[in-house]
Amino acid sequence: MIDRRTQRVPTVLSIAGFDGSGGAGIQADTKTISALGCYAMNVLTALPVQNTQGVRNIYDIPTDAVREQLDAIFDDIPPDAIKIGMVHSVALVRCISDYLHAYTGPITFDPVMVSTSGHQLIQEDTIQACIAELFPKATVITPNLDEVSVLVGRSINTPEAMQAAGTTLLSMGCNAVLVKGGHLSSDTLSTFLMQQSGLTTRYESSRIATQNTHGSGCTLSSAIASFMAQGKTLDDAVSSSLDYVHQAIQGSKNLRIGKGNGPLNH
Ligand code: PLP
Repeated sequence: MIDRRTQRVPTVLSIAGFDGSGGAGIQADTKTISALGCYAMNVLTALPVQNTQGVRNIYDIPTDAVREQLDAIFDDIPPDAIKIGMVHSVALVRCISDYLHAYTGPITFDPVMVSTSGHQLIQEDTIQACIAELFPKATVITPNLDEVSVLVGRSINTPEAMQAAGTTLLSMGCNAVLVKGGHLSSDTLSTFLMQQSGLTTRYESSRIATQNTHGSGCTLSSAIASFMAQGKTLDDAVSSSLDYVHQAIQGSKNLRIGKGNGPLNH
């Protein structure tokens, strides 16, 4: 969405992991940010070796390399909004948190923990660091139900339990939480945006029967960042992003890419 008078494009930085098969991580983020008319930039945090069937291995990116990537972006193209995805070690959480201490734009944090294929994407000791360091910095966090269950320490599978868990997550220090219901087993999927102000918004959508959902969480969080980079409020950004992901899943439900959970069609 270029401002015709200034030729300026809203800039969005995704700080996230890699998916060479093109469905999740920085690849999903870049497609989403571009499709929504913003300018996409990336800082790579980890190199998972993966495809639509699963994650085969994860190679670390050294902390210094992450800091240098951040320097290169911030020295040149300041981001209007940031999305943080896979951050799988305590050292990286601290590095990113320290780096962003003076950043005043909106930050969407997707606390990525386990892939759809069941692979652990975060080291155990990193979860507490994410809560302590990244939750307070984020404008909104966007956990799925598996991640919510890990964060609050109990299994969550009803809309009532989702709201109670959202209250617990707010008490852990985040400014707002989007408790995503994509993993509910019902035909109607409820998602809740809960904010420190006490405002709770409920969104409902119908389940789309498809296994092509690889990268849907990455897509949603980078869409929220993109809409906020364009100046939308958090509520509007979330609502537009949920629509965007729903349409992307609808548009890809019959796509045949890969042998596993296929990607979204942006
Ligand atoms: N790979 C990376 C780098 C990710 O960030 C994520 C999730 O956010 C995944 C894989 C897993 O994606 P999904 O659970 O949608 O398959």
